[in-house]
Amino acid sequence: MSIPLEKHTPMMQQYLSLKAEYPSTLLFYRMGDFYELFYDDAEEAAKHLGITLTQRGQSAGMPIPMAGVPFHSVDQYLAKLVAMGYSIAICEQTGEAPATKGPMERKVVRVITPGTLTDNHLLPSQENKTLVAIYSEDGKQFGLACMALSAGSMRLLECTDDELPNHLARLNAAEILTHNRAFAPNSSSSISVKPQWIERPAWHFSHRLAEQLLRNVLQTITLESLELNFANLAIPAMAACLQYALETQLSAQTLNHFCDIRVERANEHLVLDENTRKNLELLETLRGEKHPTLWSKLNRTNNPMGARLLRQWILEPLRDAQKILNRQHAITQLMMLKPNTAEHCYAGLQAVLRNIGDVERIASRIATGQSKPRDFAALRDSLLQLPTLCVLLSASLDNLPSDFLVEHLHAMQMPDDLTQTLVKAIAENPPLLLRDGGMIAAGYCPELDDLRLMHNDSGAFLMQLEAIERESTGIANLKVEFNRVHGYYIEITSSQLDKVPARYTRRQTLKNAERFITAELKAFEDKALRAQDEALAHEKKLYEQLLEWIQRYVPTLMSCAKALAELDVLCALAEVADVHQWVAPTMVPYACLEIVGGRHPVLEDLVETFTPNDCALNAKYLMNVITGPNMGGKSTYMRQSALIALLGHMGSFVPAKHAQIGLMDRIFTRIGASDDLGSGRSTFMVEMTEAATIVRQATSASLVVMDEIGRGTSTYDGLSIAWEIARHLVQHNQALCLFATHYFELTELAAELKTVRNVHLSATQSSNSHGEKLVFLHRVEAGPASKSFGVLVAKLAGIPDTIILKANKRLKQLEGEGQHPSMIDSNPKEHNSQQVSLDWLTPKEVTQPVPLVRILDTLAQLNPLDITPRMASDALFELKALWETLNHENHNSQH
Ligand code: ATP
Repeated sequence: MSIPLEKHTPMMQQYLSLKAEYPSTLLFYRMGDFYELFYDDAEEAAKHLGITLTQRGQSAGMPIPMAGVPFHSVDQYLAKLVAMGYSIAICEQTGEAPATKGPMERKVVRVITPGTLTDNHLLPSQENKTLVAIYSEDGKQFGLACMALSAGSMRLLECTDDELPNHLARLNAAEILTHNRAFAPNSSSSISVKPQWIERPAWHFSHRLAEQLLRNVLQTITLESLELNFANLAIPAMAACLQYALETQLSAQTLNHFCDIRVERANEHLVLDENTRKNLELLETLRGEKHPTLWSKLNRTNNPMGARLLRQWILEPLRDAQKILNRQHAITQLMMLKPNTAEHCYAGLQAVLRNIGDVERIASRIATGQSKPRDFAALRDSLLQLPTLCVLLSASLDNLPSDFLVEHLHAMQMPDDLTQTLVKAIAENPPLLLRDGGMIAAGYCPELDDLRLMHNDSGAFLMQLEAIERESTGIANLKVEFNRVHGYYIEITSSQLDKVPARYTRRQTLKNAERFITAELKAFEDKALRAQDEALAHEKKLYEQLLEWIQRYVPTLMSCAKALAELDVLCALAEVADVHQWVAPTMVPYACLEIVGGRHPVLEDLVETFTPNDCALNAKYLMNVITGPNMGGKSTYMRQSALIALLGHMGSFVPAKHAQIGLMDRIFTRIGASDDLGSGRSTFMVEMTEAATIVRQATSASLVVMDEIGRGTSTYDGLSIAWEIARHLVQHNQALCLFATHYFELTELAAELKTVRNVHLSATQSSNSHGEKLVFLHRVEAGPASKSFGVLVAKLAGIPDTIILKANKRLKQLEGEGQHPSMIDSNPKEHNSQQVSLDWLTPKEVTQPVPLVRILDTLAQLNPLDITPRMASDALFELKALWETLNHENHNSQH
C-alpha cells in the first residue's frame, strides 16, 4: 500500500507498523475479546476459515476489510491455518488504556510457524514437524540443519544435490530456510511433503553467527565441544535455524532443551528413498491411508513419545551392527517373563508408560516459555510414575542385564526435589490458562492463601451484614448476595420497597425485586475484587519463578524423555515379536538376504492363511528372476523380503522362522506404474527415471526390488530394456536383486549368468463344469513359471465371458504362430533343465505342504447337509486339482 502512514487513523498506523515487521505472516491483532485481521490478511483468513469478511470503517479514505475470531476459540483457527502452511503473528494489548486519545499499546508476543510448533493442539501428537535450513556455495554440495523445536533436537548433515530431495522428505520438513531460492529442488511429486520455502538473508547463514548463537542460545556449548568439524557446510544452516527459532519464540531467552545436537554421518542409516517408503507402505498405504502399514502394525506404543520415535526408527534403519544388536538384545530381554509370574516384562512396563505424559513436548514448552498450567500437572503426574517404572525395569534386568536398558534406567532417575516441588506447588486440577487462577496449590504460599481467603471467603461477612440490615430495616426477607456479573448487592422484594432506607443506592431492577448497594458493601466489594486481582498477580509471579526454576532441569527432563520413548518402542517391538512369533535375525557383514519361512508383516494379519516363503539372495545367487501368474503373490513376496531386511536393520525381530541379513546401504524399489502429471512425466518416463536412479546408484550392498519393468511401451522395446537393466544390475551393480517379470524370455538370464536363478509363484489350473479354474498356491518354487494365466485372471476380475472366449482363441493363435515375444512353452518339463533348486536353505520341515493344508481346509469347511449340487461339484473339482498338485510335488521330491 503506497499511502503514507500518517494519512491513516492512529489505530491503523499502529496496525500497519506492526504488520510491516511481519509481512509474510497473518497478523492476529487483539481488540477486546476478538483477534481481528485487516486488508489482505482478512481476505485470506475469511477464505480459509469460513469467517465473515466485513468492513471496519475507513482509513486513508479507503474501506478497511476486516475478519475476526473470538479470542477464547482462537486455537482451533490457528490449527487450521498452520496445517495449511501459514505463519501467524499474535499481537496482544499489552498496556493500560492510554490517558490521551489513541490506540492501546500493543505488541507481537508470539509468532507461530509450521516448522517451529510446540503447542499440543497445533502439532500432531504422533509426528514431529521440523524446520530445515539448507546452505550451499555451489548448488552441488549442501549442508542441512534439521531442527525439531518440540523435541529439542538438531541434526546436521551434508549431501549432494541428488540426495537433497530425499533428505528433505525424510526429515518431514514443514518449513525450509534458504539463502537462495534457486537451490530449491524442482518440485517433484515424489516428495509428498510440501514444505514452505522461506528465503532468509545471507548473513543468517554464517559460521560466526552459529558460534554466537550456540553460546548465547544453547549456553556454554561451543562448536569444538560438539565436534562438528566435519559438517562444515551444515554449520551455517544451523545458524539460520537457531536465528529463526529465536525470532519466532519471542518469549524464549535460551533454547536449553536442545540436548540432542549431532552430525548425521553419510553411512549412518540404511537409505530408503521416497519411492521405497511409498512402495513398501511404511507409514501410509499406496492410497494414502494410515492403516494397514508397517507403522500401524508395529505401533503398540503406549505413549506419544514412543509413537513418534517409532516413525523415526522405521524411516532411519541403522547400519551399525552393534546398535542393531543393542536393540535386539533389549527386545529379547523385554520378552522374558517377569520373575515368578506368567506376565512378560514388556506388559508391566507398558501399563506404566500409558500413564506417563508427553514429557518431551512439555519440557520443550517449559524451555521456550510456552508452558500452560496443565503442563506442570502432567509433568508432576508423569514424574510420580517413574519410581514404579524403574522398579519394574530393574526387575526385568535381573536375568540378563542389557547395557542399553541399564542406560535407560539411569536416565529415568529424576531429582527428588523436582517432583516434590511440583507436588507441593501445583493444584490437583489446574485451570487451562494461568489467567483463570487456581494453578498454585493451597498451602504452597501463605500470602497467596490469604489473598484467596479474602476473595473467596465472603460468606461469613455477607451473613453478618444480612442480619444487621434485616434488623435495621425491618425487612425479614432481605438478602445480601453476590454474582459474577453484578457483584455484591442487597435484594429487596417489590412489596417491601417502601422500607428501603435512603443510604441504599439502586443497582438493578428485576421483575419482582430491586437490588441495592451500600457504602459498606461497596467497600467490601472493592477489597474482595482487589484481593482477586492481587491473588492472580501473585500467582503469575509464583508461576514465573517456578518456570525459571524448572527450566534448569530441562536437559535432565529431555534425557529422561528420550529414554522413555526408546523404552516404549522397544516394548512395542517386543509385544509384536511375542504375539506374532517373530524371530531375531542374524545380521552379518556380507551381502545376503536369506529367509526361511518369511511372511509379510502386514498381510499376514489380513489373509486367512498366509503361505510363508523362503528367500535366498547371496554371493552365489545375486538375482532371483520371479515369474508367476497375476495375483500369484510376486509383489507380496518381494515386499515382504524387503520389509524383513528393513525390520532387521531397525533392530526389530522379523516375521520368519529364521533370517540372516547382510548389512545394507540402501533398499531400492521400483514397483507399479503410474504417471506423474504434476512433473509432466508419462507412465513409462516415471518407470525409466526410477530405473535410471537404481542402476546409477545401487551398490553391492544394496537390495533392489524391481516389480515389472519395461511394461509401459511396446513389447520388444520393453523386453530389451528390462533384459539389459537386469544384466547391468547383476554384472555392474552386483546388488542383491528380486526381479519380477511377466516377460518369460528373461528367465533365460539364468542360463547366461550364473548368479541369476529363476523362481516362480505356483498356481494350478483345473477344469470343472463351469470352465477353467485357477488355484493360487502363493508358494515360491524353484524354476520359472510354466504359464502366465493372464486370461484366467482377467476372467476372475469379471471381464465378460464373450471377451474371455475370444481372448483365449487369440492367445492360442498367437502361441501357435510363435508371434508373441513372451510366449512360453506350456510344457514345464523343458524348463526343468534350467531349474535351480532352493536346497541351500530350506529345511524340509519348514516347507509347508500347502496343497495338503488347502485340501484339509476345504474339507473342514464343507457341510454335506448344507450344500447345493453345484457347490458340491465345484468343491470336488477343487479337491481333485489340489490332490494332483500334491501328487506332482511328491513325485518331484522323490526324484
Ligand atoms: P500381479 O502380477 O497381478 O501384480 P502378483 O503376483 O504381484 O500379481 P500379489 O499382488 O503379490 O500378486 O498378490 C495378490 C494377492 O494374493 C494378495 O493381495 C494376497 O491377498 C494374496 N497373497 C499373496 N501372497 C500370499 C501368500 N504368501 N499367502 C497368502 N496370500 C497371499
